[in-house]
Amino acid sequence: MPKAIKKLAVLTSGGDSPGMNAAIRSVVRTCAYHDIECVGVYRGYEGLIEGDFKPMDARSVKGIINKGGTILKSARSKEFRTIEGRQKAFKQLIGANIDGLVVVGGDGSFTGALIFNQEFDFPVMGIPGTIDNDIYGTSHTLGFDTALNTVVDAIDKIRDTASSHNRLFFIEVMGRDVGHIALNVGIAGGAEEILIPEEDLGLDRLVESLNRSRKSGKTSSIVIVAEGDKIGKNIFELKDYVDENMEGYDVRVSVLGHMQRGGAPSCFDRVLASRMGVKAVESLLEGETNYMVGLLNNNVELTPLEKAIKGKSKINLELLRVSDIMST
Ligand code: ATP
Repeated sequence: MPKAIKKLAVLTSGGDSPGMNAAIRSVVRTCAYHDIECVGVYRGYEGLIEGDFKPMDARSVKGIINKGGTILKSARSKEFRTIEGRQKAFKQLIGANIDGLVVVGGDGSFTGALIFNQEFDFPVMGIPGTIDNDIYGTSHTLGFDTALNTVVDAIDKIRDTASSHNRLFFIEVMGRDVGHIALNVGIAGGAEEILIPEEDLGLDRLVESLNRSRKSGKTSSIVIVAEGDKIGKNIFELKDYVDENMEGYDVRVSVLGHMQRGGAPSCFDRVLASRMGVKAVESLLEGETNYMVGLLNNNVELTPLEKAIKGKSKINLELLRVSDIMST
């Protein structure tokens, strides 16, 4: 029989994403609902090692569901990558009578949680919080939907300038390894081309396609480039190539950067975070450990952390086809 859980801890780790606060709120309130104690851990694994804990009750998470970022702060901890660091973290948890840990973060944070569990048999549960949506075992990570809305808003604004000046804009969006953001915002923002890490269109085909758009009567164009795209070494080299090989367009670049990670979470992310927090806490109370909660076919379900870490989050091929048809 697993030890009965009387006290849980929650931390946020890795890059922040909108919806992390809503997840913290959900974890804390689900603990209160089940009459167990909850502590917030500041600065991710760094704060775990240092024992930077704060008791939290239902009222201490008021007014945060609509806030971007994370009230618990996030950090990347080198020390937690060492056994000595993880031993210190274990001591802090035991010293504070904590029986389980909810980790809100990306695959790196889950890797740390899984290793920690394997070394100390300490119950852990993951909630996927990253705007890139690059985690296996969930159709949506926390913050992905908000980031999409933020980027589409930016594209709409850039298009106003593009069409007023007959410009071709390359817009770089986040997504080092996967093109989920690029593909979705490309369709929603009416982009002529979408360049993603999963597909290598080739520079010549890109120019060919842009020329075709010109001939069909388009006077301005938007090309969405995921930061991990492999066609050009970077978006500025892409611009130079198109500048040299296409006439008649004034080519510009816009790198959206960190603004994509901020802002108030969308309704979707707030609801998702609330559902995931409930499932994470109740699963730990039921004696489950080493899982990530995720959204699958609109149900909140558990995926083993090991699978969530090793599995590949694949691009939706139907969306690729839709984007091709829409740019006709
Ligand atoms: P993002 O998607 O925003 O990058 P992430 O959770 O993948 O989020 P990482 O920086 O990869 O972010 O990992 C967060 C923290 O998890 C690291 O700073 C480290 O403390 C811990 N961690 C990552 N990998 C390991 C590992 N192999 N062993 C122990 N701890 C790890």
